[in-house]
Amino acid sequence: MTEHRHLDELLRVKEGDAGCNAGEPILDAYVELELVGEDPARVFPGTAIHLASCPGCRADHDGLLEAARHFGDVPSG
Ligand SMILES: [Zn+2]
Repeated sequence: MTEHRHLDELLRVKEGDAGCNAGEPILDAYVELELVGEDPARVFPGTAIHLASCPGCRADHDGLLEAARHFGDVPSG
C-alpha cells in the first residue's frame, strides 16, 4: 500500500486532458460543433475531458455556448 501513489494519481493531469491552454479558438470551434448537433468530443477529445474536470474552462465554454445561441446563427444581411 503506498499512499503517495494515490496522491500522485490525483495530482497527475488526467490522461488526454488538453489543459487550460486549449484556448478560446478551440472552445469556439467546440461550441460551433455543439450548435450544429455534432459531437465535439469526437473532434476535440482532450478539450472534452478537460471541460469535464475544469470548472473555469467549463464556465468559459458555457458563456460561449450561450452567446453563440443568441448571436451565432443569425443570418446577417
Ligand atoms: Zn481549464
